[in-house]
Amino acid sequence: MKFKKDCIFCRIAAGEIPSDKVYEDERIVAFKDLNPQAPVHVLVVPKAHFATLAEMSGEDAELVKHALQTVPRIAASLGLANGYRLIVNQGEDAGQTVHHLHIHLLGGKPLGEKIV
Ligand code: AMP
Ligand code: ZN
Repeated sequence: MKFKKDCIFCRIAAGEIPSDKVYEDERIVAFKDLNPQAPVHVLVVPKAHFATLAEMSGEDAELVKHALQTVPRIAASLGLANGYRLIVNQGEDAGQTVHHLHIHLLGGKPLGEKIV
């Protein structure tokens, strides 16, 4: 598995840095964002290191599929029966600050303003 030793999400996935985990399996982990932007704000993170989607090969795409297919289960466990929003920031213009692929899962109130 790709591991970058100076990457905070690699280290969280490996259990080297504590996090408030809400879900974990062999391939992904989901934990609460330190700086929540909604009542529920969780990051769904592949354990393997990819900075962005562009770094992933066709084979790696299976991991994205697995993460997306697991989101509804994580959302249900967090009580998001009314819906939620997913955001995946990619690179500088999107304001990506942690360069390890992650899916923001936001909800717990009507999220209002939309950019798409
Ligand atoms: P992005 O701007 O898409 O790269 O988002 C990175 C997110 O990671 C931000 O929402 C941060 O609040 C969050 N974050 C950074 N470090 C941690 C950490 N150690 N535990 C939980 N969330 C974190
Ligand atoms: Zn990483």
